[in-house]
Amino acid sequence: MAERPVRKTRKLIELQVRSAESVGPHLIRIVAGGDGYRHFTDNGYTDAYVKVLFPLPEVAYPEPFDMETIRAELPREDWPRTRTYTVRANNPRTGELTIDFVHHGDEGLAGPWAARAKPGDTLRLIGPGGAYAPDPEADWHLFIGDESAYPAISASLERLPAAAKAIALLEVGTAAEAPTGTLPATHPDLDLATTWITRDAGPTLLDALRALDFPTGRVHAFVHGEAGVVKEIRRHLVDDRGVDRTHISFSGYWRKGRDEDGFQADKAAEKAAERDTEQPA
Ligand SMILES: Cc1cc2nc3c(=O)[nH]c(=O)nc-3n(C[C@H](O)[C@H](O)[C@H](O)COP(=O)(O)OP(=O)(O)OC[C@H]3O[C@@H](n4cnc5c(N)ncnc54)[C@H](O)[C@@H]3O)c2cc1C
Repeated sequence: MAERPVRKTRKLIELQVRSAESVGPHLIRIVAGGDGYRHFTDNGYTDAYVKVLFPLPEVAYPEPFDMETIRAELPREDWPRTRTYTVRANNPRTGELTIDFVHHGDEGLAGPWAARAKPGDTLRLIGPGGAYAPDPEADWHLFIGDESAYPAISASLERLPAAAKAIALLEVGTAAEAPTGTLPATHPDLDLATTWITRDAGPTLLDALRALDFPTGRVHAFVHGEAGVVKEIRRHLVDDRGVDRTHISFSGYWRKGRDEDGFQADKAAEKAAERDTEQPA
């Protein structure tokens, strides 16, 4: 399912970090709130996501910080960089959003920012967008993803009705890292089978999926994570398992060896190339 764009005209949401804590291997949970929260509107999707803004340190931005002014007055290369993150939880009672950032090393903007974040830091974002929530009519649910997809998978598991059937294939670095605290405590009647797949050894996510006995009935699948892995898994589901494309939510959340700017540029170029080949001669 294609990712729906966040409308560019949406109001900038400026929040302050309330807490930053480690909630699993390489996962940093940021809770942020403040006056800007009033501009956040929940869209009801369990994969709701926002674009987090990272201003460039060498650029002097207008005060107050405003994206429309920035777009109108500054050259594109000076606009803040953006990184996409799932809203793990929205708490209207406290006026706070929770976002879980993968800290995948020293490279990048968002991961290292989260690793350094402390209460009082500013978090600017635009959104939300989103496209998926578990289909209550499905007979069972399949969740496949790496750490970047845990937040959306966790939010989706929390949304499943009692006695729903779900299978989760989740990737993790090593067996020792297989998290315990990251997934939510779900409804006790939820029939959930979780398999942790380690990147350092053993079967891959695709191997595990190939070996999986599918329960009977219609599946609703959610497959998100590294783009190359997602593509292979989707192909297997559609071509080998005969799953209807419309019953799969899939999206590359990141691409190995590319930062988000490069990955977005690749996607735009791939779409343009597809359009060109579709044009009648
Ligand atoms: C709709 C959507 C929702 C997302 N939700 C989340 C979320 O809730 N939590 C989350 O952590 N991520 C999420 N992501 C993925 C996140 O946007 C990317 O991982 C992003 O590239 C991280 O930015 P960065 O500045 O840390 O690294 P970048 O500067 O973009 O990349 C630097 C380097 O790190 C590599 N890299 C990027 N991400 C990862 C990773 N996860 N593991 C290993 N290497 C990586 C890149 O390939 C590149 O080589 C989501 C993406 C989308 C599209």
